[in-house]
Amino acid sequence: MKRVIIIGAGVAGLGAAFKVQRAAEAGADVECVVVERDDRVGGKLATHIIPDPEGGEYVVDGGSDAFVSGKPAIARMARLLGITEAMRPARDENKKTLIVKGDRLIEMPDGIMMFAPTKLMPLVTTPLYSWPGKLRMGLDLVLPRKERWAPGETAQDHDETLESFVVRRMGRECLDRVAEPLVGGVHASEPTQMSLAATFPNLLEMEQQFGSVVRGMLHQRKQAEAMKKTYPPKPGDAPKTFFNTFDRGMQQLALAMADAIGQERIRTGAAVTGVAKTDGTWSVALETGEVLEGDALIVATEAWAAEKLLRDVDTGIADLLATIPCSSSATVPMAFRAEDCPFDQRWFGILAPLVERRPILAVTLSSSKWSDKAPEGRVLLRGFIGGPLNQHLLEASDEELIDTVHHELVELLGMRPDAEPIFAEVFRWNGGMPQYTLGHLDRVDEIERQVGQVRGLGVAGGAYRGVGVPNCIESGERAVTKILGEWGIDLEEDRS
Ligand SMILES: Cc1cc2nc3c(=O)[nH]c(=O)nc-3n(C[C@H](O)[C@H](O)[C@H](O)COP(=O)(O)OP(=O)(O)OC[C@H]3O[C@@H](n4cnc5c(N)ncnc54)[C@H](O)[C@@H]3O)c2cc1C
Repeated sequence: MKRVIIIGAGVAGLGAAFKVQRAAEAGADVECVVVERDDRVGGKLATHIIPDPEGGEYVVDGGSDAFVSGKPAIARMARLLGITEAMRPARDENKKTLIVKGDRLIEMPDGIMMFAPTKLMPLVTTPLYSWPGKLRMGLDLVLPRKERWAPGETAQDHDETLESFVVRRMGRECLDRVAEPLVGGVHASEPTQMSLAATFPNLLEMEQQFGSVVRGMLHQRKQAEAMKKTYPPKPGDAPKTFFNTFDRGMQQLALAMADAIGQERIRTGAAVTGVAKTDGTWSVALETGEVLEGDALIVATEAWAAEKLLRDVDTGIADLLATIPCSSSATVPMAFRAEDCPFDQRWFGILAPLVERRPILAVTLSSSKWSDKAPEGRVLLRGFIGGPLNQHLLEASDEELIDTVHHELVELLGMRPDAEPIFAEVFRWNGGMPQYTLGHLDRVDEIERQVGQVRGLGVAGGAYRGVGVPNCIESGERAVTKILGEWGIDLEEDRS
């Protein structure tokens, strides 16, 4: 029996373990053990169920609160786990994004796709941009491509930062007001560093194909509308929305994965302190002094944690892992009585551009974005603190972070200053946001090449090829495919 040790029970580690388990159930002579430092599974899928003193409960996600329906890994996983019924669409009737400009909140104009305007009147009438800013955005339609790619070249061969691309095509105001908070915000990234090839290669591809981002987005919109006409929703189908979640929060997915893997194969509260390889055997030392042995190892932790663990095994790989920077963030969910929130609640989120220099990057109105996350008559909000300019704020105590978010809600939304939160929590994600900086994909290629040369080793997680939950699941699965391949085990599901 071959044994795979997996370090980290975030979705990447669980995705890996579930695949090993499926291989075992399909007859392969393999097993796995997952070791996780925290006392729970899920990593950045962290849900707290909090009772309201007057009845009902809150479903509070402290990390990821959604998944994008366009990426199939989660729907596939939900089917395998039998939890499809628990998937919930966002309440798109409230789908509005508000952007902070000075002391105002301005609704993001209709038709903005990523940052490109695709509808004329909303662009003309919005007070979000100045007239020179709007005209500069229009130049995207006539500006030539930066260069023509040679046949076979991809976005990776022409990587560019978010700042360089957006300023070149649409001007700085477009970057500052929308592209940075909306596109850069996904990674809480510095636009002058963020690699487009690693995050949104489609933008670079659109410029090649259509000579303009606006034309590329218009084409995409037409295609989506045509698809809707060809495949209209069947009566009784759940509405298809861009964002989805699970009714008991995102951790529900991790918990279901853990059940399917088998709780007896998962050791929580088990921090790994060191890793060694002797001949074909991997040894994993736990903080408790215990040493586990296996035939293969998958490190599914943050890049900086993987670097520490792998330094004694392979300094080349560790040095490469050290080139993936990570930034910290915190989310601050809090609930209020509706009477303390005298503002329109038909919106999903507020974005605070870096140029506004506010202490928060964003606010999500969870009770409006999702059904059943808060009892009737209650408002559930979540402040997000982090990003390149605000790393120092994270040194503050939990009480100070709660006060900061509360103060922002009063200033931006007109919440009653004396409103007492029904509860407030702080989830800290120290070094939890991998930064995909210029050239990231080349470094990941090299990490994968070097890991490929070490028999029985895999790495997985959000640090490599996508931070989204579906990407992380797939990265765990790919690590298992590599290892099973070395053992000559070919899974039916990989062939179909
Ligand atoms: C605030 C926030 C909001 C987000 N929102 C979304 C969203 O809405 N949608 C989306 O798709 N993505 C979102 N993401 C990104 C997504 O949640 C993550 O990229 C993904 O969950 C990472 O999964 P992972 O398994 O790679 O890593 P993690 O979840 O970080 O898991 C790694 C695990 O390794 C463990 N570990 C580390 N070192 C050791 C050690 N020495 N020994 C044992 N265990 C160890 C850690 O404790 C951790 O549990 C968000 C991320 C954050 C931080």
